[in-house]
Amino acid sequence: MAVPQNRVTRSRRNMRRAHDALVAGNPAECPNCGELKRPHHVCGACGHYDAREVVATAAVDLDEDAA
Ligand SMILES: [Zn+2]
Repeated sequence: MAVPQNRVTRSRRNMRRAHDALVAGNPAECPNCGELKRPHHVCGACGHYDAREVVATAAVDLDEDAA
């Protein structure tokens, strides 16, 4: 098993981790419903993309013929 040749100091470890922070996303407003959505992704609230509905979000009654 590989063994570290030298101890990594707290300073050097923290300097390495200085670039590890997660960056916030860049949410954009959905032109259909106004909800914040990820750019280039289908809106999670209304299922629209590029000003048209691509994912059906309306409730579908599968038992409408059953009585
Ligand atoms: Zn939307």
